[in-house]
Amino acid sequence: MAVEKKDLDWGNLTFDYQPTDYSYVSNWKDGKWDEGGLTDQHTVTLSECAGLLHYCQEVFEGLKAYTTKDGDIVCFRPDMNAERMYNSAARLEMPSFPKDRFVEAVKEVVKANAAWVPPFGSGATLYVRPLMFATGNVIGVAPADEYQFRILVTPVGPYFKGGLKPIKLCVSKYDRAAPHGTGNIKAGLNYAMSLKPTMEAHRNGFAENLYLDSESRTYVEETGGANVLFVAKDGTLVVPKSHTDSILPSITRRSLVQVAEDLGMKVDQRPVAWAEVAEGEFVECGLCGTAAVISPVGEIHNNELVVTFPDGHEECGPVMKRLRETLVGIQSAELEDKHNWVFKVC
Ligand SMILES: *Cc1c(COP(=O)(O)O)cnc(C)c1O
Repeated sequence: MAVEKKDLDWGNLTFDYQPTDYSYVSNWKDGKWDEGGLTDQHTVTLSECAGLLHYCQEVFEGLKAYTTKDGDIVCFRPDMNAERMYNSAARLEMPSFPKDRFVEAVKEVVKANAAWVPPFGSGATLYVRPLMFATGNVIGVAPADEYQFRILVTPVGPYFKGGLKPIKLCVSKYDRAAPHGTGNIKAGLNYAMSLKPTMEAHRNGFAENLYLDSESRTYVEETGGANVLFVAKDGTLVVPKSHTDSILPSITRRSLVQVAEDLGMKVDQRPVAWAEVAEGEFVECGLCGTAAVISPVGEIHNNELVVTFPDGHEECGPVMKRLRETLVGIQSAELEDKHNWVFKVC
C-alpha cells in the first residue's frame, strides 16, 4: 500500500540534512554486532574518549533511494556499498558489518521512511548514508573495542538545478591520498584534509580539484569526491587507473564502464598521464559519482595552462550525455536493467 508522502516541496529540496522518522543503528560490543534495528533518535552520545574523536576510526557510504516510473521504491546496487564499506572498515581495523545485513538494514530503514522518498519525476532522492565509528574508549593509539554502525537517510534535491553545465577544475598543488594509503577507502579522514584545497579551489572559481598521483605527480587520479572519465579522439572511454591503488572504487564509474561496453563502446582502463590531457588528447571529460551520475567538465586549469574539451565545452558532450542518460534510464526503470542493478525496497 502506498504511504502518504510528507508535505515537502520536492522540486526545491537542497542538499542539506533534515532528520526523517527513523535511522538504523547496531552496536559492536564484546566481539559481536547486536541485533540492530530502527531508532527515532537522531543524536549520538559518546564518551569524550571515544576512538572516533581521537584517532578518526570512521568510514561511511553514500547511496540513494528513489521512486521509479513504475512507482517502486528502489536503491541502486546496495550490495556494492556493502562490499566497499566492508573493505573500508577492514583497512581501519574496524569490525566489518556483514554484507547481507547491510543490504537488509538499507532496505529496512528506507522502507520505514517511505514517506520521505521523493516521488518519481521530482529529480529529488532520499540520500542514504551508512556510517560506522569507534565508540569505545582509547587513549593510547589502538583500535577501539566498541563501534556503532548507523544509517541515516535525508531527502535531497537534484544535484543539477540549472541543467548540465560543464564545470571547471584546477589541478591541485595538494595531494589527496598517499601511495598505498587510504585513498581507496571511503573514510572521513580522507575528507578532513581535502577541505582546505576544496575551499581554495572554490575561492579561485573552480568547482573541484583534480588530484595527480602523489608519488610521481605524473598521472591523473580523481577529484575530492568523484572519479574522472575521459573520451579520446577516436571515441574510446578512457578511465584512469592508479599504480598506487589510491583511487576510490566508485560504483558509478564501474557501472558506467559496463554501460559503455554494453553500448559497444571501446573502454580503456589505464594510467592516464596529465601530459596526455595537457596535450589535448581528450575531447570530453566528466566526473562520476552517486549524486550527479556524471558532471561534464569543460576546462581544467593547471597554473597558466587551460585545457579545454572541445566536444563538451559549452554543454555536456555527446558521449558523456549518452552514458549518463543510459545509466539514469536503467536506474529509473525506463531502460532494461539487464545486470539486476536496481534493488527493490518496496
Ligand atoms: C564516494 C566517492 C566517489 C564516488 O563513488 P560512487 O560510489 O560512484 O558514489 C569517488 N571518489 C571519492 C573520493 C569518493 O569518496
